[in-house]
Amino acid sequence: MGILQDLIAKYLPQILSTVQQKATEEVAKPVQPVKVEIAPEPKSGLKPITKDQLLMGRDKQYASEYTQEISDNLDKLLVILNKIQAAYGKQFVINSGWRPAAVNASTPGAAKHSTHMMGLAADISDHDGAVMRWTLANLDLIKSLGVHMENWDWTPTWTHYQIVPPKSGHMVFVPSTAPALAPGRWNGKYDPKYDA
Ligand SMILES: [Zn+2]
Repeated sequence: MGILQDLIAKYLPQILSTVQQKATEEVAKPVQPVKVEIAPEPKSGLKPITKDQLLMGRDKQYASEYTQEISDNLDKLLVILNKIQAAYGKQFVINSGWRPAAVNASTPGAAKHSTHMMGLAADISDHDGAVMRWTLANLDLIKSLGVHMENWDWTPTWTHYQIVPPKSGHMVFVPSTAPALAPGRWNGKYDPKYDA
């Protein structure tokens, strides 16, 4: 057996148990040249979503439309999105945050008076429906954060979160009179108690 194996065999169990227990007792210092890879419990590794990701430079490009109210709304949205992301446990990819009128008008399928225009909504990339399924399984949390979603049949590759209720008050709502872009993406079922 080589020295390396000996050292690993000697020290690894000790180090592992120490890390686990956060014990204060003395531990032999690992011999310098031997790097024992103890998988460090990674902090979630999640990068918080930033305001820049919601703005995409539009605050400069459309400076005249970028009001204090929109900025304040985005700050509130950001806190909530980061709470959702932390609970979800994986990095969100933001497709769209604030939309000035011209951007909204040229966004396919966007509602005419989309909540994106007031900085109250964000679209999270969701090609495989993982965010959708997770959201549906965590409606208690989503409701406690005051968040609402567009019906997933209208959002083929993303999940739309908004921090104000739609007119209907429904937890999940149909965003427009246009036909669904992805009929059948979702079975449409959730407990109506969340609409209250
Ligand atoms: Zn949206």
